[in-house]
Amino acid sequence: MNDIDSLPIRDELRGKSPYGAPQLDVPVRLNTNENPYPLPDPLVERIAQRVTEAARDLNRYPDRDAVELRAGLAHYLSRTAGHPVTREQVWAANGSNEVLQQLLQAFGGPGRTALGFEPSYSMHALLARGTGTGWLSGPRNEDFTIDIDAAVRTIAEQRPDIVFICSPNNPTGTAVTEETVLALYEAAQAARSDGHGALVVLDEAYGEFSHHPSLLPLIEGRPTLVLSRTMSKAFGAAGLRLGYLAADAAVVDAVQLVRLPYHLSAVTQATALAALEHTDTLLGYVEQLKAERDRLVDELRAMGCQVTESDANFVQFGRFDGAAGSHAVWEALLAHGVLVRDNGVPGWLRVSAGTPEENDTFLDAVRAVTKELK
Ligand code: PMP
Repeated sequence: MNDIDSLPIRDELRGKSPYGAPQLDVPVRLNTNENPYPLPDPLVERIAQRVTEAARDLNRYPDRDAVELRAGLAHYLSRTAGHPVTREQVWAANGSNEVLQQLLQAFGGPGRTALGFEPSYSMHALLARGTGTGWLSGPRNEDFTIDIDAAVRTIAEQRPDIVFICSPNNPTGTAVTEETVLALYEAAQAARSDGHGALVVLDEAYGEFSHHPSLLPLIEGRPTLVLSRTMSKAFGAAGLRLGYLAADAAVVDAVQLVRLPYHLSAVTQATALAALEHTDTLLGYVEQLKAERDRLVDELRAMGCQVTESDANFVQFGRFDGAAGSHAVWEALLAHGVLVRDNGVPGWLRVSAGTPEENDTFLDAVRAVTKELK
């Protein structure tokens, strides 16, 4: 086999690695912010029923506009996120990664730029690269919150076309305040020279786990503010691949210009609709995970670790001796059968909240490793 560099690949992809958390077969996997609870049996049965019905029509293309599913997602958001939205304001795709990619295809692209505040979800930058959009990295405070003044200055100077705000932020767990979003949105309005405000994408993949309400209500009257959500975390359905956005209906019209025809399979639509029927049970698991997340924060602090405030289903902990220190702890935890994530934030690691038993195993491993490495 030739190597990639012998191919006529785009220059900006040369020498780059694909996104990928290690998928290792270890007893306790707490590295990809998955929900540890399998879907409940009644939901599994309902999925089988709905998929069987969909299978009868698989000779036909699926509903291209996913009308029933978007109505279901709009109902879910209206009921749980503090603001009524209509089906016309909601769009769905194969995971929120695809939603974000479609936004970049429609609003970014060659000659345009996107700005994010790092460390944050690394796919924002990778999706920018894949769509030929320039990437700009903005600063964060020591405690990983966004420095409003510095962010507003960066937006004014760099004039990005898209601004990513991740709340709660991956990998730090940090929630973003309403005040921050409003200030950045305001700055983004003045950013572009053609009179249109820049698109502000609020990535709330972990929104359901927050101590604070969703910032969905802010989309009202703000035509370039987009909220992105997923069924991968709170719905415990990472394997389903279903993400969605809520925004002004014009944004939904815009992403339809770039989406592939029939991008959401009939099987995906049927499965997601079944999951929505079981929202309340699934949100019950979210409550358990929030309690476990808070326990992880408390117990890690009691052990003397530094822990970043978390509003997500994971916790960033440290502080180890730079990148080498965090990597040594990552390896030592792996030797104890616990896989956490080294996101490349020097001195810090990230652990996803698992079941109470998994979290106990993780906490015991941290206790052992801290002694071993002393
Ligand atoms: N946004 C954030 C902040 C994430 O952490 C993730 C997944 N790790 C995603 C989006 C994408 O999730 P999915 O494509 O599974 O919806």
